[in-house]
Parts: sequence; structure tokens; C-alpha cells
Amino acid sequence: MVVQVGNIQIGGPQFTVIAGPCSIESENQFMTTALSVKNSGASILRGGIWKMRTSAKAFQGLGAEAFDIIKKVKAATGLGLVSEVTDVRQIEEIAHIVDGYQIGARNMHNYSLLKELGRQPKPVLLKRGFSAFIDEWIKAADYVLAGGNENVILCERGIRTFETATRNTLDLNAVVYAKKHTQLPVIVDPSHAVGIAELIPQLCYASAAAGADGLIIEAHPNPAQALSDGPQALTLETFDKTMKQLERVLAAFDRRLQKA
Ligand code: PEP
Ligand code: MN
Repeated sequence: MVVQVGNIQIGGPQFTVIAGPCSIESENQFMTTALSVKNSGASILRGGIWKMRTSAKAFQGLGAEAFDIIKKVKAATGLGLVSEVTDVRQIEEIAHIVDGYQIGARNMHNYSLLKELGRQPKPVLLKRGFSAFIDEWIKAADYVLAGGNENVILCERGIRTFETATRNTLDLNAVVYAKKHTQLPVIVDPSHAVGIAELIPQLCYASAAAGADGLIIEAHPNPAQALSDGPQALTLETFDKTMKQLERVLAAFDRRLQKA
């Protein structure tokens, strides 16, 4: 099944890359990132408006202050945006500026949020909870589908295991399993899976080889200064190099990168 995000298809023969910062921090940061990742071959933008942070003292996102920045960046790039909603009220609040809603790992089990997203037409990018069984993740998608919204994209973003050297453990089993047992597009978020920028390119290539429909990758013009998830943000230069190598990997599987 193909899900349309703006004018870009996810789940068709081509491979789709969503990229952008973890959080929208300023007009300059989001604009610089968006223009650069588009130039490198990303066809959809990401960028957090409200952040689900472990610490209440950590940066919580710009909230409504990000709306004008988003309008400017979308106008300048022509790209669509997916962004996380953490509360049912936010669905309506950002309907005019997003092309898809992200459900974060911490909210995969938030069934009232999933039901509400099932009642509106925009696509839903459903992250797997970090302790969720594959089956629970697939059943969570059913909450959106049952409401009449068939536009669900599954996203594997790493699970909690006994391992502590990396942030989480990327479960490529889940990608091939979900591709086999559902009709839904499946993408991979290597950024939250491994949490270490220099390990991300290899996981992008592995995900493409495993048959994922696309990737969602965090990138930042200056990762050391990022207000969230700096250690896992690719620099814009590394993102560009990674995309070039990714195209070679895709070619080995007779696939191509979707261009905006
Ligand atoms: C994110 O995409 O920035 C994010 C918070 O992801 P997750 O919900 O997978 O932790
Ligand atoms: Mn993040």
C-alpha cells in the first residue's frame, strides 16, 4: 500500500527519505537544515514542535512559536512536513501546517490519540514504542485504520534491550516482519535507534537492504549546539555523503531514491 504525504509517496517502488532537526529551534536553524537536506535528496521534512523529553527541565520545543517558521520553510523548499503530536488538541492546532502527524514512541499506546487521528485524513507516522512487541505496534496501527484513516506508516525506531553501548537497539527483524505481515509502508529511524551520529550511515544502508520503504533521519547545521538529540544529529555534510552512498545501495536492489 502507498501512503501519500503531501505530493510524495511512501511505500511505492521508490525509497523516501524524511530529514530535519529533532526540534525546530529557530528560523535560521530550520531553514538552513531544510534547504540543505532537500538539496541532498530528502523529499519530506521533519522537525519537532512539542518535544517529549525525559526531563521536564529539558527543552520542550518552541510550540506555537514554530508555526511561522514552518510556513516560511515550507514556502522556501516546497517540501511537506511531518511533526509529532503529543496531545489530541494539537491535531487541529497544526492541521494547517503539517502534511503528516508523527506519533512518538512514548505515545504508541495512547489509544485516544490514535483514535482521534483515525478520524482525520492526514497520514500518521506511527513510531514503535521502545518496549512494544511488534504485534502491539501493528495492533496500535489498527486504532487509526479502524477510524477510517488508511494512511498509516509504521516506523521502527529502536527498542530497549540489555545493551547500553547504544541508545536503543535497531530491530531490523521488525521491519522485515511488518513488511511481510501488514500492507503498510515501513520506514526506519536510525537516529533514535542507535543515538550515535557516526554509526547512523551504516544503519541507513542496512535498512535499505532490509527492504524498508524509507528513512527518517535527524540532521542539524551544528549538532554540538542542538537543543535536543545533538549526539545523534548528522551534520549537513555527513547527511549529503550518506545520501550519495544510499543511492548506490538502493541501486543494488533495483530501487531509486524518490526526489521532490
Ligand atoms: C523524535 O522523532 O524526535 C522522537 C522523539 O522520536 P521517538 O518518539 O521515536 O523517541
Ligand atoms: Mn529526536
